[in-house]
Amino acid sequence: MSETQDCLFCRIVAGEVPADVVAETEHSLAFRDISPQAPTHALVVPRRHVPDAASLAVASPDELADVVALAARVAEGDGLPGYRLVANTGAAAQQTVFHCHVHVLGGRELTWPPG
Ligand code: 5GP
Repeated sequence: MSETQDCLFCRIVAGEVPADVVAETEHSLAFRDISPQAPTHALVVPRRHVPDAASLAVASPDELADVVALAARVAEGDGLPGYRLVANTGAAAQQTVFHCHVHVLGGRELTWPPG
């Protein structure tokens, strides 16, 4: 099985797995998380398969910038006064899907430090 066929977020990008898409660009896709942890909880992914945000920074800084800019658009679209971007990196940090993604969280009080 190829990387793309094996990867949930590649399959969402390809339209093979349904998702609640909220915004997109040529390079990135934003969709609602299936298990929201806040009133706004979206995931922004690059269309290209790379395992995490640092890998995307190395492969294509412009595409990482596109992901962050799209995350800001999602937050603006939801009318958030502030928001949190999270990029869990590695299993030890609770990354469970190994296709780069940035969580956009907002719409409730966000405490610090995160758990
Ligand atoms: P991670 O734990 O890797 O940082 O985040 C993966 C996220 O993907 C989790 O927040 C999880 O709820 C979300 N997720 C897992 N499967 C699906 C799915 O099929 N559709 C959507 N929209 N989100 C998913």
